[in-house]
Amino acid sequence: MIYLDYSANTPADPRVAEAFLRASLDFPGNPNSKHPAGQAAANALSESRSHIAELLSVLPEELIFTSGATESNNLALLGSVAARRHVGRHIISTALEHPSVSACLSHLQENGYEIDLLPILSNGRIDLEALSSLLRKDTCLVALSAVDSELGTVQPLAEAAAHIRRFSDCHFHVDATQAVGKTPVDFSVADSVSFAPHKFYGLTGSGVLYKKKGVPLLPQLHGGESDSPYRSGTPALAEIKALECALELALSEQVSRNEAVRAHNAYLRTALSEEKKVSINSPADAVPHILNLSIAGSRGSAVQASLAAADICISVKSACSSDALPSRAVFAVSRSRKNALASFRVSLSHLTTREELDALLSALAPLLHA
Ligand code: PLP
Repeated sequence: MIYLDYSANTPADPRVAEAFLRASLDFPGNPNSKHPAGQAAANALSESRSHIAELLSVLPEELIFTSGATESNNLALLGSVAARRHVGRHIISTALEHPSVSACLSHLQENGYEIDLLPILSNGRIDLEALSSLLRKDTCLVALSAVDSELGTVQPLAEAAAHIRRFSDCHFHVDATQAVGKTPVDFSVADSVSFAPHKFYGLTGSGVLYKKKGVPLLPQLHGGESDSPYRSGTPALAEIKALECALELALSEQVSRNEAVRAHNAYLRTALSEEKKVSINSPADAVPHILNLSIAGSRGSAVQASLAAADICISVKSACSSDALPSRAVFAVSRSRKNALASFRVSLSHLTTREELDALLSALAPLLHA
């Protein structure tokens, strides 16, 4: 099998799996328990929290451990607007967001919130002038992705933050799930940032929400006291140890991993740019891990099925999106419904080999020359 869907999930690094196993065996106690086994687990958790905070250049108490980026995004969006009812009910976001943000916004819209989606420029970036003019006194939330999951566009977060900061009551949330470990993310520009380690060779079922100290947020899970006032439940110590290991590796190996991925991306772009039927939808300066393509005359879902028959795994959109609808992200940059329906995503890793890319190109050939 050839796996080219690394933006949906990555295989766990054996060192990460080892960290998970070690913590699972070494710490039987619940970190919330007051007895010695509980306290040993609580101390181990506190060590990991401090180390993860150091790796991200944030404060330990600014980290909330969750079950994944979906939970982190839901907590950030629902928790921030609930804490800012006095500000208003206007929210700004984009058509590039993952369903864990966009579906949450639809839920808020059904409950009386007004949502404005920023125009996307042809280079995939948000229109900063539109952001500036859409911001209002009653804007309680702006939610942007650092890197979107379909095109891989890197958004100008610092510039966006400069506009948002004019409105001190507005919460700025960043979904950095496709960015952490792949491109530098400055957490300090946002009020909250979400990500999950299964996108960088960590484990599924674990996520992080960074929440800047002093920023109001109401918990969305009701339960007992835990290591964070914002998230009840037994802290998943072994998952957090695994996250710490995955993050440390992703950041220390980021340059070498990216070099390999950039070479793979350039190889595919060069091979496919000669093909008349192919549109390359990802902007040239997108993260190299994501290459969004369309083949004129073939729906993305048909390309996916045809590659699956050759044992090659790619995705149409992000794994949690409906494939029946045209891609909102691709439509935003190409303004073509046909192109958006034809689009599919190849996502690459430093583990990818040249042979795998050649196999992909061979499997696409019949569709390109039909
Ligand atoms: N945000 C983005 C940009 C994503 O790509 C994903 C997953 O694909 C998520 C959020 C949801 O992550 P999780 O599967 O950890 O809930």
